[in-house]
Amino acid sequence: MSKMYEIFGNDAYSMTRKLMEAAEVIKKIPSGANVALKPNLVVSKSPDSGATTHAGVLAGVISYLQDHGIRDISVIEGSWVGDSTGRAFRAAGYEEVGRKYGVPLYDLKQDQTRTVQTPLRPMEICGRALDAGYLINLPVLKGHCQTAMTCALKNCKGCLPDREKRRFHAEGLMKPIAALASALRPPLTIVDSICGDLDFEEGGNPVYTGRMILGEDPVQLDAYGCRLMGLPLSEVPYIELAEQWGAGSAQVCGEDILRLNEPSQGGRYPKPSAKVARLTAGVCQDSACSACYASLVRALYSCGGSHGTPIAIGQGWKGREFQGLGIGRCCDGASRQVKGCPPTADAIAAALTGKE
Ligand code: SF4
Repeated sequence: MSKMYEIFGNDAYSMTRKLMEAAEVIKKIPSGANVALKPNLVVSKSPDSGATTHAGVLAGVISYLQDHGIRDISVIEGSWVGDSTGRAFRAAGYEEVGRKYGVPLYDLKQDQTRTVQTPLRPMEICGRALDAGYLINLPVLKGHCQTAMTCALKNCKGCLPDREKRRFHAEGLMKPIAALASALRPPLTIVDSICGDLDFEEGGNPVYTGRMILGEDPVQLDAYGCRLMGLPLSEVPYIELAEQWGAGSAQVCGEDILRLNEPSQGGRYPKPSAKVARLTAGVCQDSACSACYASLVRALYSCGGSHGTPIAIGQGWKGREFQGLGIGRCCDGASRQVKGCPPTADAIAAALTGKE
C-alpha cells in the first residue's frame, strides 16, 4: 500500500512544499526528466470558487523542483469543452506564476495527440502528457454532478482533446475514466482540498476544508477522497473499475496516512455562504477547525440536509455538556459523539442516519 501525506492549513504554497519535502519527491524523479504539472483548470474561475487548483500549489511545486535543480518544467492543461484554457490560466493566477518562475503554460487543446490502447478501447491522449518524463497531477477534491466526486483519476481527462472528452460523456464517464487511468498514470499526485466545491466541478459552493494530500497511487487517493466526502465507493464506480484494470489500489488503512500536523493548526472555519450556510443552519459551532466542519458539511449534504439532531462541533466544546450529537474529539461532553480528529464525513453521516 502506498503512503499518503496529509497536511492542514490555508497557505497552499507552504503546505505544498512541506508535503514534497516530507515525501522526498526529488528522489523519485528520474535524472534529466522533464516534469509536467497538470492542475485542474476545468473552467475560467478563481480557486476560491472551489473549482480550480490554487496558484500557490503550482508555485510551491515549481519552487521545490527548481530549488532541487530541475529546470525543464511545464504546466499542461485543457479546460472543459466550451471554455478557453488561456482564460482559465489568467483567472486562476497562473500567468503570473509562469512569468515569475520562467515556466511555460501549454494549452492541451492545441497539442498533438496519439492513440493509446486501453482496456476499454483505443483513446486519443495529448502528446505533452504522454511524453512527460515525470507527470505531477494537481487535482481539486470536489463534488461532481455526474460522477458524485472528482479528484485524481478524473483530473486526467484534461489531458484529452475536446473530441475525446465529448466521447467520454457519451459513454457515461465511468468506464472511460477508469480506462484512462490504466493508460496515463501520473507517478505523483498532490490534492488541493483547501476549498473544493460541494457538488459542482465548476464551483460556486466552496467547502473550506483546509487540507492537502500527497500520494503516489491515484486510485487510493480517490478512495480516500470518497471517505472524506462521505461517499461510499459504490457511488463512484470508476474507482474500483480503475483498480480492476490495474491502475492502483482502492484500499485505505489508517496507517497509510502520515499526518504532518493537526487539524487545529489548519485554521478556523470561515463563515459559510449560500448552500453551505443553509445546510449548517442550527449547528452549534464554537471554534471548529476547517477540516472538521468540512466533514460535517459533506455529511449533512450526503444525508439530504434534514437530520433533526442537535449538533455541536468545535474546540470551544471541550469539557462542556451537550444534549445531542457532538462532532469530533473535542465534543466528549455530548450525549452522543462521533470520535476522531477530525472525523470523516462517512462516520458523521452514519451517526446522523443511525447506521453506526
Ligand atoms: S475534533 Fe476538535 S481539534 Fe479535532 S478537528 Fe474537530 S474541532 Fe478540531
